[in-house]
Amino acid sequence: MQEQLLKTKNAIRMCINCRTRYLQTDLIRLQCKDKELIPYTNFGRSFYICKTCFNTKDKKLLRALSRACKKEIKITNLERLING
Ligand SMILES: [Zn+2]
Repeated sequence: MQEQLLKTKNAIRMCINCRTRYLQTDLIRLQCKDKELIPYTNFGRSFYICKTCFNTKDKKLLRALSRACKKEIKITNLERLING
């Protein structure tokens, strides 16, 4: 039952920082690959952050990302992500 729900287009996902639930389409999907924070590539583990947290770029967000990546994420990692 749960499994089927997760596969729908209107899937709800949780921001790893503020833990608010949003529609998947309203979230930014990221992953860590080779110790880089990158947009999701359709392979491997991923996680979501909401646009509010992404724009805030506070220390709490960096801690949440560091936890998800199992390495320290710095503000420069995030900025690189935005600037491409
Ligand atoms: Zn958030």
